[in-house]
Amino acid sequence: MSQAQIDVSEIHWLMDMFQTVDVGLVVLNCDYRIQVWNGFMENHSGLTPRQVRDRYLFDLFSEIDEDWLRRKCDPVILLKNRAFTIWEQRPYIFKFRNYRPITGSAEHMYQNCTIFPLTNNSGEVTHLCFIIYDVTDIAVSRTELEQMNTRLEQLSKIDYLTKLYNRGHWEESLIQEFKRLHRYAHKSTLLMCDIDHFKMVNDTYGHTAGDLVIQKIADAVRVNLRDTDIAGRYGGEEYAVLLVDTTVEQATFFAERLRHAVEGLVVMYNKTPLKVTISIGLAEFHSDMKQHVQWIEAADEALYQSKEGGRNQLTCYHPQ
Ligand code: GH3
Ligand code: MG
Ligand code: MG
Repeated sequence: MSQAQIDVSEIHWLMDMFQTVDVGLVVLNCDYRIQVWNGFMENHSGLTPRQVRDRYLFDLFSEIDEDWLRRKCDPVILLKNRAFTIWEQRPYIFKFRNYRPITGSAEHMYQNCTIFPLTNNSGEVTHLCFIIYDVTDIAVSRTELEQMNTRLEQLSKIDYLTKLYNRGHWEESLIQEFKRLHRYAHKSTLLMCDIDHFKMVNDTYGHTAGDLVIQKIADAVRVNLRDTDIAGRYGGEEYAVLLVDTTVEQATFFAERLRHAVEGLVVMYNKTPLKVTISIGLAEFHSDMKQHVQWIEAADEALYQSKEGGRNQLTCYHPQ
């Protein structure tokens, strides 16, 4: 083979590689008119090199933010720098549909992009080259992982049976509110309640029936809550509600409504109607309380008095 033939072959191979490589290659002149468009770009856009040749990029792809891309490319032209765009910043430059079977949950292709200058023999920048990488797989798995972490974090705060906050998260919220109360003068009230004679439900109908009752009372707590109230399952059949920005007098209304709701509740278990009542203790925050547990103890003391007083009633804690 002569040298000329070898050169032609090499150009041929290069063109083949350029067409089949699994990244997008685009060359623009400095007026943002498309000069080169490889197979990847053709396959994903549906536009042939002939159709895009000399077309103004921003006319052809209206999804591209012209100001933003020009700001990216200015230093490439003026300073011969490279520029990069990443999917976390902007999901894509060219809006291509995502056809991948595995990562099909994404509607469009996520792209990273490198932009670098092409110079003539005198070293002047005459063109810009864009390399477009399809990073949909990475973006989708990262996004799914983040969603999963958020979900796990939520689950770790929630009590499985009642779907109220679990003891740990609820107490954490109480501590936050307790600190806020010491800093800013306002009123908040703590409500503790416990199902009356609950052992009887378990002993008579079994633990599954008991679980159902615990769930139904949690539902009653939930429907009677305001958005700002924080309800948790404190223990087995004990619930705690933090009533933010609420005086003990105001809390009494909520507590009475809840007590009535539970009193009127009929829980059907295997066609057997079950009825229970609850006892409630209320304690308003007091600045003498040095630790949050003192607040819990105050509400618990009031709850104990409700039990002593005959159950199915509420008591407000009064500091000595
Ligand atoms: P009192 O009126 O004094 O509160 O009487 P009580 O029978 O309700 O007494 P207590 O509050 O001490 O009883 C709690 C019972 O709740 C004991 C325990 O077996 C039961 N319990 C705790 N957690 C669960 C649970 O997740 N499911 C079921 N079914 N029972 C539970
Ligand atoms: Mg009980
Ligand atoms: Mg109890």
